[in-house]
Amino acid sequence: MENGPDAASVVEQLRSVFASGKTRSVKWRIEQLKGISRFVTEKENELCEAVHKDLHKPFFESYTAEIATTKSSTAETIKSLPKWMKPEKVGTNLLVHPASAEILPEPLGVCLIIAPWNYPVWLSLEPLIGAISAGNCAVLKPSEVAQHTSAYIAEWLPKYVDPEAVKVIEGGVSVATQLLAQKWDKIFYTGGGNVARIILAAAAKHLTPVTLELGGKSPVIVDSTVDVEAVAKRIAWGKWPSNNGQACIAPDYVLAEESVVPKLVSSLKENLKAFYGGNPQKAEISRVINQAHFGRLVGMLQDGGTLDKVVHGGETDEDDLYIAPTIVLDPPDDSPIMQEEIFGPLLVIKPIKGVAEAIQFVNSRPKPLALYIFSQNKAVQDRVIQETSSGGVTINDTVLHVAVTGLPFGGVGESGMGAYHGPHSFNLFSHRKAILNRSYKIDNAIRYPPYTTKKQKL
Ligand code: NAD
Repeated sequence: MENGPDAASVVEQLRSVFASGKTRSVKWRIEQLKGISRFVTEKENELCEAVHKDLHKPFFESYTAEIATTKSSTAETIKSLPKWMKPEKVGTNLLVHPASAEILPEPLGVCLIIAPWNYPVWLSLEPLIGAISAGNCAVLKPSEVAQHTSAYIAEWLPKYVDPEAVKVIEGGVSVATQLLAQKWDKIFYTGGGNVARIILAAAAKHLTPVTLELGGKSPVIVDSTVDVEAVAKRIAWGKWPSNNGQACIAPDYVLAEESVVPKLVSSLKENLKAFYGGNPQKAEISRVINQAHFGRLVGMLQDGGTLDKVVHGGETDEDDLYIAPTIVLDPPDDSPIMQEEIFGPLLVIKPIKGVAEAIQFVNSRPKPLALYIFSQNKAVQDRVIQETSSGGVTINDTVLHVAVTGLPFGGVGESGMGAYHGPHSFNLFSHRKAILNRSYKIDNAIRYPPYTTKKQKL
């Protein structure tokens, strides 16, 4: 690997650390979790600055979505870990009586975490919290695309956690490829679906379990029972101040009943004005991460008849990697913006006749990571939940289900496999070992041969 030991010897070293048993104690786990918490607390400004260099992400946004998230996750994990680590008693049956049965969580071993660039602190550290809480050794490979944050984490995280058991390895595709050639006990990947296929293929060689946190086009459904102004504010917040749309669960397109569309569009515009004034480029708003994504988004804006459908924004400045918050009204269904995940500041509004059409539209596409329903009608909420499939749902708001750690966060179908956060992270990085403990008090002779006719009649 670039300027460092080769991948095989890193894994070998971690294996011997894991075999020593040091990562299993609750004390060791909690020390590391405290270390992560101290890291983001003491280096809060430096981390926000690194993210700002990468993405121009406003400090407040970085604080809430990168730092505070990590701190509350470590706090919850530290508090709950002794409970999560306890064996879980389960019932038995006549066949095994007398006996006791329990599920004992045990660490998997040596885990690989491959992180993305859009929330480069939180999405690196959150899975690491899971891996450590479950008593594993881990290699974290941050995304080379968010290069300043990656370099900062690689330099400083090892000073806060046990560097023998947790390694940060920087690099792009070639480093990731070398890492993926090794045998891991778990691979946790966050990113796009194409690379996910490479990860899965590499893992298959070693039968390594994989969690894939992917993306997709997260729809919003709006019916005519709602207060449109309140809805517009919540959609606008979930889209633009969330890293200017570069978030895996940002609203991608809005299926809105025809009668609410004019008011929805005008309210979204008003919210944008209230958030960013007349010229968002001069306000605090994330930039597109790099030239490649800028080109992709500009292509999406210009191709397939989309440009004619822009009703707000549309300005671009390549030197500044800036694309204005943009609203596109009813682009053709076969245009790139309706076919691919947007992952940027463009929001589509598509008028629909009613909820049945919205459900049919969502179901004709790959299962999304998130789905949002705005309706005051409980029957409509229930119908959408029951008749569509998505990683998660927020009713009458956007994005916020990600903040409830009791809820598993992950995708389904093309939006991913496996889910984490809070106790779900602990379980994801553990093997839940089944243990049956039999007593010698009774030994039913019927199970032992010879299987006489008398026995068969019983
Ligand atoms: P990215 O380009 O940063 O890639 C993610 C990681 O994959 C990086 O660490 C990168 O080095 C690695 N990688 C790239 N090519 C590779 C290869 N050939 N082999 C092995 N590893 C490789 O991120 P991205 O893919 O642009 O991320 C955007 C996607 O991620 C979107 O689809 C988004 O929805 C999704 N996402 C999902 C979540 C989630 O929690 N579900 C969070 C953030 C982003």
